Amino acid sequence: MIDLKAFEVWFITGSQHLYGEETLKLVAEHSQQIAKGLDGAAGTPVRVVYKPVVKTPEEIYATLQDANTTANCIGIITWMHTFSPAKMWIRGLSILQKPMLHLHTQFNRDIPWSSIDMDFMNLNQSAHGDREFGFIVSRMRKNRKVVVGHWQDPEVLGQINAWARAAAGWHDWQGAKFARIGDNMRYVAVTEGDKVEAELKFGYSVNTYGVGDLVKVIDSISDDAINELLTEYEATYTMAADLQKGGAKHQSVYDAAKIELGLKKFLEEGGFKGFTDTFEDLHGMIQLPGIAAQRLMAAGYGFAGEGDWKTAALVRAFKVMGSGLKGGNAFMEDYTYHFDPNNQLVLGSHMLEIDASLANGKAALEVHPLGIGGKADPARLVFNVAGGAALNASIVDMGNRFRLLINEVEAVEPQNDLPNLPVARVLWKPYPDMKTGCAAWIYAGGAHHTAYSQNLTAEHLQDFADIAGLEFIRIGKETKLDQLRNELRWNDASYK
Ligand code: MN
Repeated sequence: MIDLKAFEVWFITGSQHLYGEETLKLVAEHSQQIAKGLDGAAGTPVRVVYKPVVKTPEEIYATLQDANTTANCIGIITWMHTFSPAKMWIRGLSILQKPMLHLHTQFNRDIPWSSIDMDFMNLNQSAHGDREFGFIVSRMRKNRKVVVGHWQDPEVLGQINAWARAAAGWHDWQGAKFARIGDNMRYVAVTEGDKVEAELKFGYSVNTYGVGDLVKVIDSISDDAINELLTEYEATYTMAADLQKGGAKHQSVYDAAKIELGLKKFLEEGGFKGFTDTFEDLHGMIQLPGIAAQRLMAAGYGFAGEGDWKTAALVRAFKVMGSGLKGGNAFMEDYTYHFDPNNQLVLGSHMLEIDASLANGKAALEVHPLGIGGKADPARLVFNVAGGAALNASIVDMGNRFRLLINEVEAVEPQNDLPNLPVARVLWKPYPDMKTGCAAWIYAGGAHHTAYSQNLTAEHLQDFADIAGLEFIRIGKETKLDQLRNELRWNDASYK
């Protein structure tokens, strides 16, 4: 679906001419081996490409300028095998626009106690060479991820991989287009936001389209195409007889399939990576897109309901960052609570639009009344979601900045059938506990809409926030409410 191997991270080693040709030859050989090792490691999601060792301000500038303009380069990894005087880096770093990871490593893991001599010391200087480099990056107030340890250490590889995934999500946002079909749900606050500022900060654009523009495309879909999709529905989902071809309620499923194909065509023709809609603006549409939104999300599109473009864009970024990992990434909403003192739970769902990539087992395609919107009964996929570690994330517009807020949660297997709730749903326990987790979320201004992930961690999102220049707040196992409230106060002061 989204192939991260199409992206490159450049491995750039800094040095200088002080050491002579022999040493520089070894620096290059070692750097090539490390780049090859990173590129070939099992979990590396992108290509890692060796670049010739940079030894002068001119070489540094040219390489970083090249990184900026190479379309599939999503970031750089820097390492100072020897000492690379960091004033040489100022001009290059000042124009660098791609994410950076500083790998504080060493070619050899161990000190060769019996053979170590001054030649070895000349070559293996990253313990101080990387500090000189680190100073100039801090002095220039540039965001980067610092990873420390031997380059074959699984923990180090994991940290690099998390950053590479975050960089891929960021890269995907640059120039991305999101369609807002209809405006914001009337009077809702948190789904609003500054779209001009978002485009400046995040690189994606959000523009509105009248629902009539979409209806025109939906009406252009052929019977043959609809029948082909209906065959796929019947092969993929559990469907009652009256919903199948020839059944009494089949028309609802037919209309839903037509909407799905129309929406897909609309998104493809416009080059969109995601969309929002709203049940308050469905003029000319027969039903609210249910299964259409569910399946388009599973295919990689970002989506959120009620005009919530920030969450739609975040869901898309999650899909890119999590590509190839086990588990799904989805639009979610905290819906209702279970306040049993011995088993406190949040039930997450939406009216219809829960991502089909979360389905645990075979989903059921069902048609039921919606209760709002005043349209025909919409078709939707109904399923449960597996237990396990997960997180919810929200981007909120605080007026003077965007905040990325996450809450780590533990999803639990459904313990009860819900025969009268025909929507997909998931149950989870927020960390550190229900009361603290929910209170912290509300103090931090988190939205009711979220991007829900089964395969991304706080580390991916911390890296993503650093790359995007976002304020990052994590509610997790160690969160104490009084400390979190202070963090929010101090952050307010730091952004003044
Ligand atoms: Mn909603």
